[in-house]
Amino acid sequence: MWLQKWSPNFKPEEDLPVAPTWVLRSGLPFHMHTWNYVKQILSSVGTPLVLDAASYGRTRPSMSKIRMEVNLLKPLSESVFIGQEYDDSPPDGYTQKLEYEGIPKYCKHCRKLGHNVIECRALEKKIATNAEEVQDKSKEHQTKNKATGKKEDHNNKIEKMRLILRRIRNQQRVNTLYRQKLKILRRKR
Ligand SMILES: [Zn+2]
Repeated sequence: MWLQKWSPNFKPEEDLPVAPTWVLRSGLPFHMHTWNYVKQILSSVGTPLVLDAASYGRTRPSMSKIRMEVNLLKPLSESVFIGQEYDDSPPDGYTQKLEYEGIPKYCKHCRKLGHNVIECRALEKKIATNAEEVQDKSKEHQTKNKATGKKEDHNNKIEKMRLILRRIRNQQRVNTLYRQKLKILRRKR
């Protein structure tokens, strides 16, 4: 557990994504194993908190180790450039590799410490419910289509009946005309 400064964005149900982790810098020149150098070198990566006992006591020349607050929502820098950068000439310095130890797990979905997104049950549940909803919607869509299909069938049948009726009526008209003509012809005889 660690304490953090209060901020206006504080939400009691969420954990801040800023947490302490160990940053290891193997091969850092021994004369740079001091708090002042460390602060300068790592200020772009996070907030330096404290040097570990060996770094503070300068008893482990191979590596410097520091406790730092980092933002777990951002990708952690794999290296930093140590040296001078000039506008008109190439930079003079070297790239220092950074390694991390004990990075706390942080879930970007729940915004909580203790597990990461891959292990998140809440997200798993959400994805499952979403998939079910999509399935339900497509089923609904299908039944709707079936219903409109039936309606279309019905309409087609009515249209066909109308056509048949029209043909019959036309036939009847022809028949009456024919009969009338016959009558006239008979009269003329
Ligand atoms: Zn989660």
